[in-house]
Amino acid sequence: MKLKTLLTLFALSLLSSFVFAQGQDFSKVEMKATKVAGNVYMLEGSGGNIGVSVGPDGILIVDDQFAPLADRIKAALKQLGEGKLKFVINTHWHGDHTGGNAIFGVDSTIIAHANVRKRLSAPVLRDGKPAPGRPKEALPLITFDESLSVHFNGEEIKAIHYPNGHTDGDGVIFFTGANVVHMGDHMMTVNFPFVDMNSGGSVEGIVRNIGNVLAKLPPDVKIIPGHGPLATVDDVRRYQQVLIETVDIVRKQMQAGKSLDEIKAAGLPAKYDSWGKNFITTPVWIETVFKSLTKSAGQ
Ligand SMILES: [Zn+2]
Repeated sequence: MKLKTLLTLFALSLLSSFVFAQGQDFSKVEMKATKVAGNVYMLEGSGGNIGVSVGPDGILIVDDQFAPLADRIKAALKQLGEGKLKFVINTHWHGDHTGGNAIFGVDSTIIAHANVRKRLSAPVLRDGKPAPGRPKEALPLITFDESLSVHFNGEEIKAIHYPNGHTDGDGVIFFTGANVVHMGDHMMTVNFPFVDMNSGGSVEGIVRNIGNVLAKLPPDVKIIPGHGPLATVDDVRRYQQVLIETVDIVRKQMQAGKSLDEIKAAGLPAKYDSWGKNFITTPVWIETVFKSLTKSAGQ
C-alpha cells in the first residue's frame, strides 16, 4: 500500500509537471546548439534533447521540449538554416518531448508511434477534473507501428519502435547517413532512467531494448540521449551494464525474500552513486526495479 501510494504520488507529480509545464518559469532557458555529425545538430534547452536535420529539403526535428520555448527553438533553428520546419518526430509522448507540438504542428507534420497519438489524445486530469487531451494540431498526423522512414536531406531517417521500455510508444531515430541516433529516453547519459510503468514501460523492457539498439549501432555512431550530454556507443554499453548490474542486485535480494524497505535501506554499492544524483535518485530507482520485477513476476 505504502509503495503504491508513493508511486502514485510520484506519477502524479510527474504528470503535473507535464500538464502544468506552462506554469513553470522558462524565461531564463537558453537554447544551445551543438553540431553532432553531417547535417545533424543537437539542441539543448529545458526538457528532452532535440535532434535537428538541416539541409536542402528543409528542417526536421526530433522532439520539441515545452510550448513556451517554441519561439526560442524557432530562433535556434533559424541560426542553423533558413529552410522550413517540415517534420517533427516525437520519440514518445511525455510533455518534456512533445510540449511544442501544439505550436509546431500547425504547419509542420508530426510523426510518432501509434501509442504516442493514443496517449496524447487521451483525457487528462486537470485540477482533479477530467479534461480533454491535447488539441488536434498537437497530435501526430502520421503514425507507425514498427518503423517508418523519412527520406530527407540526402539520407534515410528511420524511426524504429522499441516496445514497453521507457513507455509503450518509444521510437529510436536513426539518421543513417550522418551516423547519428536519437535514443529518446531509452538513453540517459549520466542518470538512472525513468521507467513509466503507467504508460506501459518496464525495467526488463528498457534493458532489453537498449541491448537491441546496441546490436544495431554502427561503431562510430554519435548518440543523442533523451537527457544529458552527447554520447558514444561505449557510453550506451556502460549504461546498459549499470542497468543490468543494479537490476540484478535488486532481483537477488527479492529472491532472498527481502522487503522493499530492506532493499532500499541496503542501497546500492557506492560505485553507482553518481547515477542517482538527479531526477531518479537511487531509492526511486530501487523502488522502480522492485515494482517492475514484481509486476512482471505476477503476469
Ligand atoms: Zn520520457
